Amino acid sequence: MTKIAFQPAGDPMSEENLEKSLYSPVILSEVEALSGTQLARELALTYPGDMARVGGVKRGKRDEQLREWEKLERGDVVLFASGDEVFLSGTITHTIQSKELARELWSEDDKGVTPECIYFIDEMNKQRIPRETINRLCGHEPDMPWDSFTVESERASANVLYAFDLESQVYFPLVPEDEYKRIVQSFNPTEPVDASRRALMRKEEGFLRNQLFRGRAMAECAICGRTYPTQFLVAAHVKAWAECSTEDRLDFENVAIPLCKLGCLELYRRNYVTVIDERVAVTTAKVDSADLRAFLTRIKGRVCTWWRGSEAYFEWHTEHGSFY
Ligand SMILES: [Zn+2]
Repeated sequence: MTKIAFQPAGDPMSEENLEKSLYSPVILSEVEALSGTQLARELALTYPGDMARVGGVKRGKRDEQLREWEKLERGDVVLFASGDEVFLSGTITHTIQSKELARELWSEDDKGVTPECIYFIDEMNKQRIPRETINRLCGHEPDMPWDSFTVESERASANVLYAFDLESQVYFPLVPEDEYKRIVQSFNPTEPVDASRRALMRKEEGFLRNQLFRGRAMAECAICGRTYPTQFLVAAHVKAWAECSTEDRLDFENVAIPLCKLGCLELYRRNYVTVIDERVAVTTAKVDSADLRAFLTRIKGRVCTWWRGSEAYFEWHTEHGSFY
């Protein structure tokens, strides 16, 4: 599940580094330490505008901050703290340990130390959250100071993430295929949806998103065919998730499609649209809104490139919808 990290950023050097690489993004193609690396190729997919925001942490005298930084995963949320409040938040997209990159971005302090534990961060948002509130939500003493980079446990993080709606809908933990299969096979529909079950559902969703989007910042909606930033797209089950068998969910290459939040996701879930014999079909029921009718007319008959392989799931949806 998603974790939160505290990044103290009140001292002058931190403020200077924030200015250099967080408030003003870094131009990726100009960073020599990244040139030709696998990371550069991955970053180019996530940041097609060639600009990304970067933060760093020193490893610490006894590697204590390095060990905290190593806990970070994609989708975790960094809270930047100064004085008695969190003033900025952002979502981790990539991490790398590199002195070379750190020196190039921020140089060194007077002891020759550089923040080599590096993270790339998106979805930056201004915040004004009192330290006391966060400490209480995490189960700490209200006046506990934040003097070093710390990553909270998943359990302690959950209350803060939900209270301030910080969990990313774009960046999810990277889940390997065998872990996804284990999650699907261990699923028990009679179990209550508690925090650990939510964590598994988030991993399942993250795996499907990664399958569909593969780190790309833009992708095409399966129904309307428009290209949107992936934050406006959902990895939607062609056959309703709750109705899927274990075998259906293991068929991850065919059971999920990208649907846009700008309309198609709701239209599909509410059975206003489906796909029949490769083409988008729309409801034959009366639609009172002229604007909605116009939209449905526009997408009707489009060829859906996701049909092949997913026929049985679309057929389930069409039959279940029963309006066509
Ligand atoms: Zn769409």
